[in-house]
Amino acid sequence: MSVKVRFAPSPTGLLHVGNARTALVTWLFARSQNGHFMLRIDDTDQERSKEEYEIEIENGLKWLGMSWDSKARQRDRMDRYQDVIAQLKDDGRLYPCYETPDELSLKRKTLLSRGKPPIYDRAGLSLTDEQKAKYEQEGRKPHWRFKLNHAPIEWDDMIRGPVSFDGADLSDPVLIREDGSPLYHLCSVIDDIDYEMTHVVRGEDHVSNTAAHIQMFEAIGSQAPQFAHLPLLSDKEGGKLSKRLGSLSVHDLREVEKLEPMAVVSLLSRLGTSDPIEAFDDVKQIIATFDFAKFSRGTPKFDAEELLRLNARILHDTPYDHVQERLSDMGIGDMDEAFWMAVRPNITRLSDVVEWWQVANGPVTPIIEDADYVADAAALLPDAPWDEQTWKIWTDHVKEKTGRKGKSLFMPLRQALTGMNHGPELSVLMPLIGPEKAKKRLAA
Ligand code: GLU
Repeated sequence: MSVKVRFAPSPTGLLHVGNARTALVTWLFARSQNGHFMLRIDDTDQERSKEEYEIEIENGLKWLGMSWDSKARQRDRMDRYQDVIAQLKDDGRLYPCYETPDELSLKRKTLLSRGKPPIYDRAGLSLTDEQKAKYEQEGRKPHWRFKLNHAPIEWDDMIRGPVSFDGADLSDPVLIREDGSPLYHLCSVIDDIDYEMTHVVRGEDHVSNTAAHIQMFEAIGSQAPQFAHLPLLSDKEGGKLSKRLGSLSVHDLREVEKLEPMAVVSLLSRLGTSDPIEAFDDVKQIIATFDFAKFSRGTPKFDAEELLRLNARILHDTPYDHVQERLSDMGIGDMDEAFWMAVRPNITRLSDVVEWWQVANGPVTPIIEDADYVADAAALLPDAPWDEQTWKIWTDHVKEKTGRKGKSLFMPLRQALTGMNHGPELSVLMPLIGPEKAKKRLAA
């Protein structure tokens, strides 16, 4: 049986790094097994689901280099869900409940205050026909719950190992809203059956859902797939990785931080595994080493600094033709291969080239406080052509002639050449500035 898996985002917001990691791990698993990867849009929440989020999620996945072999949207499958609903009602596995959200929350609070787990009391199950009719007369519409069997539920999780629950410890999940529309649990299980998923990979926030889903698979007449629950990422300190942090959306990593997609892929694919985190420039190597056995149950820490380090390492090895288009899209000038090769080892983000470009090409307003010293130094400038040694040769010479050293030697030269007190390495800058511009700046 070949592997078939899905990534099932809800298009109710931007793609967050945590979800991108779930997508990536699922995709890597599929690709490592020559399997099938489906993108399933979980858009049953019609009010919160937005087409623009769906597009943005797809753009994020594509940017990270993922492609899908098929795609489905839950809103296109309502007829099928209604058929299964009819079947489950016939089988007595769905029962109507009339509690309002306030009543449910009161029940929960009461149980918790008595130190009991907030499990739904199944009041709906014992309503008489008269009581139901009375609620309906009051204008109440029922939501429907799935009646779990109070029996052990067990599975062998590909990450967590053997997991066991008892149906009696779970609340019967709500599968149908008051307006008759089906909810995530039901649609997800039906889709996993109909699209013949062999494995379900998702975050560990779904572990107890899985316990209920396993009984739903059986009730609908299918065998449950295998499950892999990924521990959720935490922040660097081990706290919750906030979804609200905009910078942790794939959109912002791409558009605001302007990171290299392979830096994100390198980090997200290896976090929480026994493999070292390395900078990969090609996903093939990651696919070749992918194995669920390497994933641990511990909470992986997402560290933005680590992401930047990987980004820098990838850029340092990136050939000119891979960035040429993005460089010219910056619209600041003709950054040729020589320029790229000179600045490449010195940048963390691609956008850092802008600073280098501006210092190299100007306009620069030189800062000259000690005109005599700067003029003396200008007279000692080496002849062209300039290379990475030029700065050292020149300053050795200036040191010898003027007796200056340290900051009093370098700083006036930096200020005159770049118009700034700090900035890119002068050994790299000198050949980019060139003798002509350097002389003008020193003589300003
Ligand atoms: N839409 C669900 C989520 O984003 C999918 C979970 C699943 O993979 O079943 O959490």
